[in-house]
Amino acid sequence: MIERTLVLLKPDAVQRSLMGEVLTRFERVGLKMVACRMVWVDKAFSKQHYAEHVSKPFYPGLESLITQGPVLAFVLEGVDAIEVVRKMVGPTEPKGAAPGTIRGDFAHVSYAHADERKIGIKNLIHASANKDDAKKEIALWFKADELHSYKTVHDMHVLE
Ligand code: UDP
Ligand code: MG
Repeated sequence: MIERTLVLLKPDAVQRSLMGEVLTRFERVGLKMVACRMVWVDKAFSKQHYAEHVSKPFYPGLESLITQGPVLAFVLEGVDAIEVVRKMVGPTEPKGAAPGTIRGDFAHVSYAHADERKIGIKNLIHASANKDDAKKEIALWFKADELHSYKTVHDMHVLE
């Protein structure tokens, strides 16, 4: 099933100049970027995007991380894209993320390290967790006319 999912390269990824390397991974597997925007998130918008986490103890650290510089927000489209992108991103804690995943290849820190310093865990990237979240998050970040439908060579060589 063709799905769309929201991805954010968080300020740590942008400031480490990892945008190109990460985007290349998604392009390489044939996922299609259908929207893209650079946004400096403010505290109010962070609370909307991370609504499910606002009351959790780690939220202040997360908010301070996500608002510390611009993020690159984009929408990827592909077969079971939500699950595939989460697989490529890896689990939340970089220490436990396998090599080959984005979090496992570009970070290594643990929850314990972040908690001790009362900071958010710097894990580079956000990706929608499920269909409901993807729908809500894409609508929060993009207007309908910012989402594009177009053909790539993958439509012929990967999907068909
Ligand atoms: N986070 C954190 N400390 C925690 C749990 C989460 O700093 O103990 C941050 C981390 O940046 C994570 C984000 O909050 O990516 C959202 O948490 P979630 O559990 O939704 O993880 P994700 O879906 O990003 O893997
Ligand atoms: Mg999440």
